[in-house]
Amino acid sequence: MAAPAAPTTPRTIRVAEPSLTSLEEQFLLDAYRSTFVSGSLGPHLSRFEQTFSSRVAGCAHGVAVCNGTVAIHLLLKSLDVQPGEEVLLPDFNYVANAAATVEAGAVPVLVDCDAWGRIDPEAVRAAAKPGVTRFLWVVHLYGLPCDMDALQAVADDVGLTILEDCAEAHGALYKGKTLGSFGLASTYSFFANKIITTGEGGMLCTNDADLAQRARHLSRHAMSPTQRFFHTEVGYNYRLSNLLCAIGCAQVERFDEIVAGRRALIEFYRSELDGIVAGVHINPQVSDDTVLSPWLAYVLLPDRLVPRRDDMLAALRSEFHVDTRPFFYPMHTMPPYAACETATREGRGKRNAGAVRISGRGFNIPTSSDMSLEDRTRVVEAVAEVLRRYAVER
Ligand SMILES: *Cc1c(COP(=O)(O)O)cnc(C)c1O
Repeated sequence: MAAPAAPTTPRTIRVAEPSLTSLEEQFLLDAYRSTFVSGSLGPHLSRFEQTFSSRVAGCAHGVAVCNGTVAIHLLLKSLDVQPGEEVLLPDFNYVANAAATVEAGAVPVLVDCDAWGRIDPEAVRAAAKPGVTRFLWVVHLYGLPCDMDALQAVADDVGLTILEDCAEAHGALYKGKTLGSFGLASTYSFFANKIITTGEGGMLCTNDADLAQRARHLSRHAMSPTQRFFHTEVGYNYRLSNLLCAIGCAQVERFDEIVAGRRALIEFYRSELDGIVAGVHINPQVSDDTVLSPWLAYVLLPDRLVPRRDDMLAALRSEFHVDTRPFFYPMHTMPPYAACETATREGRGKRNAGAVRISGRGFNIPTSSDMSLEDRTRVVEAVAEVLRRYAVER
C-alpha cells in the first residue's frame, strides 16, 4: 500500500528579492579579475557614479559610499551641520535620517505627515525657525513622491535647504522631473531590498560640483589632494568596493527593465486588490503630477481594520507562506527619539497624529521584478482571502 503523500509546505514568498542576472555576474567577474577590488582607481567606481547619478538621480555628480545611512551622514557633514543644530525630518520614516543626524551631532525635529504619509508642508512651516533651522530632509517613502512645489515654496519662505532621501524612490517623477534632482543633494541606498542593489551601498548625488568634491574628500579621510597622508580635517572611510560598483554598473544598465517589471507587478496587485474590501488601497497614486517609484508594493487599510493588521500579517505568514512587513513606526515612539521635538501644523510639541495613523495602516507585500505568475497569483489570493476574512469578522 502506498504511503500517504507527505504534506508539503509551500515555499515562502519573500517580501523582496533582488534581480540579478548573468550581466551582474559578468561585471563582478571583470572587476575581480582586474584586481581593482577597491580604491579610487577601480574602473567601475567612476562608471557607476557617472551612470547612476545621470540616469537615475538626474544629477551631474555622484559620490559612491558604502551604504545609504552614511550617505546621509556624509551630506550633513559636508554641509557643516553644527553641534546641536536642529534638522527637520519626517517623523514617519525609516530610522536612517534620524540616526545619521544624531551621529552628525545635530538634533532631529520630527515633522508630521499627511494622510498618505508624505511630510506635511504646513507642518514644516510651523516647525521651522527662520534663521536657525537650515536643513529639511524630504524622504519619498515607499516610492510616493512628496509635494515638491509646496515644500519648495515653504522652504523659500522660511529659509530651508531641501535634502532628498531617495532610498525608496528610484525612478519616481514629479511633474516630469526626476526625484533626487530637486534638493541641493539627494541620497540613495543599494541595500538588498532596494530597487537596484549592490548588496550594501549608497550614493550622494548633486548638481553642485563643490559639494560633490567636498563629500568625496570627507569620504576618503579628508586627505589633502596635494600631500599624501596629510589630513586637513577629521574625515571618514565611506568608500564602496569596486566589486560592488561593478554589480551597480550592471544594475544601472538594467534599470529600465527592473523598473518596468516592478511597475507591472504593482499594477497587477492594484487591479486585483484595490478596493477588494471597502477602503483598501494598493500604492495609491495620490497626485496626477507624479509617477510613483515601484519600490515595495503596499496595502493601506481603512482605519477600522488597523487593530487587525498584525493578525493579518501573521496569517499571511503561517497559513499562506507569504512574507510581509509592517510600515515603519513613527520616530517619536521609539526610545532614542522620544525626547525629540515633534511638529504639526499647530506648531511644535503637538502629537504627530498623522504619523501614528499611517504607521498602523500599512504593510508591504512581496515585490520583485522577476516574480513568476504563479507567485503573483498566490500573493493576490492570499491577501484577498485575509482581507475578506477580517473585514467580515468585524
Ligand atoms: C534603506 C533606507 C536608508 C538607508 O540605507 P542603508 O543602505 O540601509 O543604510 C535610508 N533611508 C531610507 C528611506 C531607506 O529606505
